[in-house]
Amino acid sequence: MNITNFINNKPYIVAGPCSVESESQVLAIARSIHEITNVFRAGVWKPRTSPTSFEGVGEKGLKWLSKVKRDYSLKVATEVATAKHVDLCLKHEIDILWIGARTTVNPFYVQEIAEALKGVKIPVFVKNPIHPDLGLWIGAFERLNKSGICDLAAVHRGFYNYDKLIFRNDPKWEIPIKLKEKIKNMPIICDPSHIAGKANLVEDICQTAMDINLDGFMIETHTNPSLALSDVEQQITPERLKNLVGHLILRREGLNNEDVKMKLTAMRERIDVFDLKIVELLKERQDAVEEIALFKKENDLTIFQLQRWYDILRTRKEKGKDLEIDEKMISELFSLIHKYSILIQTNIMRNT
Ligand code: PEP
Ligand code: MN
Repeated sequence: MNITNFINNKPYIVAGPCSVESESQVLAIARSIHEITNVFRAGVWKPRTSPTSFEGVGEKGLKWLSKVKRDYSLKVATEVATAKHVDLCLKHEIDILWIGARTTVNPFYVQEIAEALKGVKIPVFVKNPIHPDLGLWIGAFERLNKSGICDLAAVHRGFYNYDKLIFRNDPKWEIPIKLKEKIKNMPIICDPSHIAGKANLVEDICQTAMDINLDGFMIETHTNPSLALSDVEQQITPERLKNLVGHLILRREGLNNEDVKMKLTAMRERIDVFDLKIVELLKERQDAVEEIALFKKENDLTIFQLQRWYDILRTRKEKGKDLEIDEKMISELFSLIHKYSILIQTNIMRNT
């Protein structure tokens, strides 16, 4: 893919309300944040779960965004989901477009947007699809890139989860990290607002995003969050945005202090020893699994025995709990180990 990294300051900030509500609303927010944000965001067409929710002000909102652009010399961005939206945004000289999570999931829509953008030079942000499908996210970039869009950026806005105990959308940091491995110069920004779903988690999520070396943020900001017409609970005030940006800890990737470098190398060497031990243990476990598979075969026993799996999970979790290891980590780790144990056993059953 031919991507130009158009983001040249870190953290790159995109801020503004969830939705354009009125001319005075966007102008007031822009007045309070124009010095701190690189781009002013606001949706005019809102994809909402219920048709009775506020679905955006539509085309007239683009005129108000043009006014924000003129009055505050800010770049303005909005969400597009159809070719018609693209045409209207281009007519009103919107600077940046973004594709929302509900649109990224559908290759037909992404293709339609890509075709409407053929021959146009405009940056496009692509939010991750609602579910953690990296291939689908990359596919959207490929479709836009094939249409000649090179100024692309990814937005990590988290992934759907059913119970929403902590987050509205789970941040699966490994997915943007994998994206960075696959498309090296792709800028990736984090949308803590849609991950959090509540204003009080936004700061922490931003710091994590910086700690894993993402490039910036898209943060929903409103002068009066409790009166917002959409996403009331997750928007922060301009004061809070300034405070957040002022308190971010920006860590360095490279090292120039020799002493720090040596200490870090020593710590990493200790971790390497543990990891190699884990791999050796996995090999010993694998040998035992192969032995048990042959035994089960000789005695006509089934490979998978539900009660045994429950016992494995319970006992490992109990041990983990005693040692203060995250229960979810133990459960995920042993699900993976057990999955491969079953695979090894089925191969042995079939092939020996
Ligand atoms: C938004 O940015 O307001 C929005 C609708 O986001 P998402 O597509 O991430 O749900
Ligand atoms: Mn929103």
